[in-house]
Formats: sequence, structure tokens, C-alpha cells
Amino acid sequence: MIVVKFGGTSVGAFPQIEQAARIVHSMRDSKPIVVVSAMGGVTDALLQAGEAAVTGQTRQRDDKLWEIRSRHDQAINGLFKDRSAAVAVQDTERNIWEEIQKIFTGVSLLREMSARSRDLISSFGERLIVPIFAGYLGTLGVEAEPVDAREIIITNEESEFLLVDFDETKKRCQKLTKMAKSGTVPVVTGFICSTPAGVTTTLGRGGSDYSASIIGSCIKAEEIQIWTDVNGVMTADPRIVPEARVLDRVSYKEAAEMSYFGAKVLHPQTIMPAVDENIPIRIKNTFAPDVPGTLITAETPVHQYSVKTVTSITGMTLVSVEGRGMIGVPGVAGRVFATTARHRISVLMFSQGSSEQHISLVVNRHDGDQTVKALRREFEREIERRRIDRISSISDIAIIALVGEGIKGVPGVAARAFGILGTGSINILMIAQGSSELNLSIVVRQKDAPRAVQLLHEAFELSK
Ligand code: ADP
Ligand code: ASP
Ligand code: MG
Repeated sequence: MIVVKFGGTSVGAFPQIEQAARIVHSMRDSKPIVVVSAMGGVTDALLQAGEAAVTGQTRQRDDKLWEIRSRHDQAINGLFKDRSAAVAVQDTERNIWEEIQKIFTGVSLLREMSARSRDLISSFGERLIVPIFAGYLGTLGVEAEPVDAREIIITNEESEFLLVDFDETKKRCQKLTKMAKSGTVPVVTGFICSTPAGVTTTLGRGGSDYSASIIGSCIKAEEIQIWTDVNGVMTADPRIVPEARVLDRVSYKEAAEMSYFGAKVLHPQTIMPAVDENIPIRIKNTFAPDVPGTLITAETPVHQYSVKTVTSITGMTLVSVEGRGMIGVPGVAGRVFATTARHRISVLMFSQGSSEQHISLVVNRHDGDQTVKALRREFEREIERRRIDRISSISDIAIIALVGEGIKGVPGVAARAFGILGTGSINILMIAQGSSELNLSIVVRQKDAPRAVQLLHEAFELSK
């Protein structure tokens, strides 16, 4: 069995849905389990409607909801020539819209959107598209049924962070296996899941890739296919580097590292479940299905230039703790981590100078102020005694990451990277090499990020 996931652009409007459904039709003998994301832009639009409701802008709220509704209506009108099939899908959609109206009325009355409401609001994109996709497969002669992933993917209630309860999810995935084996294609909502108490949650933005790999690992699929709008994993984001090239093979480690550092083509958590069961992940282009795409497995040939990809992640803040007296303060790094953990702030990068006079960490922009405040409180006494001189931050920074299994053991990668950035007059604020030695991360100002990516892509001859 295989799991086949279509992203937002692959179901963006009726011609794309037609194309995606044709792909499923062509592989119907392999008994696929299909996972679908919301139509491109719909999750954002739902959240914007939510924000408008919070601020009392009912007109904007209704305009956004109307825009979402008409996109789905247009898709139904474009896809279903047979009226009776269209009516069945429209009935299902109408029930979902009743729920949407109620929730938005609630948000407007309360003028607040809790994390829980946000999750519920953002769940509708996937819930609205799945009946359309399954219904349309039916008209192609492929028996299919929509499945709400909140009945399949269950999280651990106990955990502070969202963790999937794989034992429970595995049990519930049997339903999908049964359906697929009996010849009905399950069309599952990506992105959404629920707590054991039945509360709607999500796997985070872009999380449908993760949904596919969770299901893939639970049913021990032969392959997990991620169908998107590019020919595969590329040497850089093609929107930043137009001459970026598609990679035929990438290792799990490389894919995990590059997605963590901003390669949007895969959600960062997608790789782990596949690694556990050693399931290959294939990235394919919905609009060029004959292109082989990228195969992600445990091992991969090392690229001759050692670096395989350059990625960037923006919207970060760099926080620094500095002071000559820090040498005498035990456990500064440990206390920094304990403080960020206590406040549930995730640290993307960390570095400490060998002289122990300087510790830097990179956090998401929205955690920046809180990180500085929390650290100042933690080190209040040291600041008073002048052992720590300064805890400060710089916002609008980006992390550029060079990723490739070949980086380890190849001398001079860092020298070459720093050299080229220096020639381009790009100031480096911080560097770190992951202990895995398959990545070199460089912090620069956000405004310099696109050019830094282009320069590095060229310096390591990645388009060749
Ligand atoms: P989907 O809606 O199918 O999930 P996404 O927009 O989430 O698609 O991811 C695909 C996009 O990721 C591509 O259109 C591309 O612009 C972007 N991207 C960023 N970095 C890379 C990369 N290294 N390789 C391929 N695509 C990348
Ligand atoms: N629809 C969700 C989002 O926009 C999940 C996804 O696209 O993978 O984040
Ligand atoms: Mg995506």
C-alpha cells in the first residue's frame, strides 16, 4: 500500500483537482490512501476571517468566508457534470458551513480566538476539500470515501507539546487499511487531528506532509508520496534561486535538516515516522507526473561538491548573553536552556564561544522579547554584580543553512562560505555547525538572506 498526499496547490481549483484525481485513478491498483491539504490559501483566509471577527470587522470576516465558499462552489461546479453527484457533495458542504457560521458568530461575540478556536477554525480547509475530492474520484469510477483525520490521528493529552500517540493512531489506521483493501480509496484530511477527548488540534502549518508520514508509518506503507508544485527537492528554493536544480536522491538526515532550516517543500516532522519504519518518501510534481522527482531514503550518494542544498529561514531573533565575568559563573548555558524550556520557547540555534564570554541563541521572532525578559530575570544577580554585562537581541534575522552528508570530513566548506559572504559584504552574526556535521548554519540579517542564498548556491556550484 502507498500513501499519496496532495498539497494546497495540487487542489487549488478544479483543473488542478482534476489532475490530482487522474493521478489517483492511474494508481488505483496499488490501493492508495490519499491525504489532501486545504485548497492553497484557504487556511490563511480562514485565519484572516478569524482575526477580522476578533477585531469586530464583520464585513471583512464575511468577505473572506464568502471568498472561501465561492472557491469551493466553483470547484464543485467545474468538476461535477452529473447533478446528483454534485448535490450529494453540496449537502455535505452545507453541513460544514453551518458549523463554520456558528463558530465565527461565537468568535465575533466573544471577540477572542483562543489557541483551541484557532485550531478548530483552521481545520475547515481540509474538511471542505475532502468530500469534493472523494466525490470527484467517484465520478471517475474510483470508489472513494472522505475520512476525517480527527478520528484517526490522536495526540497525547499528557504532553506539554503536541505529540502523536502512535499506538492509538496505529489502531485507528486499521480502518484505512481495511477500506483500501476492500477497494475503497480513503481520502483523508491532512493537517488535522484530535486529542483523546476529541478536541480538534492541528499538526502545525504545512502539517499535511506529516499527516501522510504518520499514516504511512502506522500502516507500514511501501512508499509515502508527497505530490506538490515543483519537480522535487531542489538545491535551493526556486523562488530565491531560479537556477536551482532538482535532486534525485536525498537522505532522511539531509531532508530533515533542510526542512528544519526552511525548505518548505517538506514539513520538518515528516521524516521521523518514515525513518522508524524505513519507508521511502518520494516528492513528485502533480503537474509533471512523468518527472521522476526526489527519492528520500536512509542512504544517498554523496554529492561531489559536498554541499547539496542551501536553505533559509526568516523571521528570527538573535538573543545574546555577554559578559567577561561569565567565565566564573557555573552552568550559564544550562540555565539559558532551562529558562527557555520553562517558557516553552524553542531554540533553533545555539552557540557558545570557547572563551565563555558570549552565548547566542536564535528563536522565533514572536518569542524574542519574552526570551530577553526571561533571561534578564534568570540572571538578575549576575547582572547586578556585573558578571553579565548585557542581554540583548537583534530582530529580523535569518538562518542560512548549507546541508549535505558530504559536509562532514570535507575541509574548507566553512572557509569557502565565509569567503563568499565576505566578498558580497554580507555580515555574519553567528555560525554553528550541527553535531551531525551535515549542516553549517550561518546567521545574517534578513535583508541579506536572499543574496546570501544566491551567492552560496553559486559558490558551491549547486546548479551544475
Ligand atoms: P504544498 O502546498 O504542495 O504542500 P508547499 O508550498 O508547502 O507545497 O511546498 C512547495 C514549495 O516549497 C515549492 O513551491 C517551493 O517554492 C518551496 N521550496 C522551498 N525550498 C525548496 C526546496 N529546497 N526544494 C523545493 N521546493 C522548495
Ligand atoms: N492547510 C494547512 C496549511 O496551510 C496544512 C498544509 O497545507 O499542509 O498550513
Ligand atoms: Mg506544504
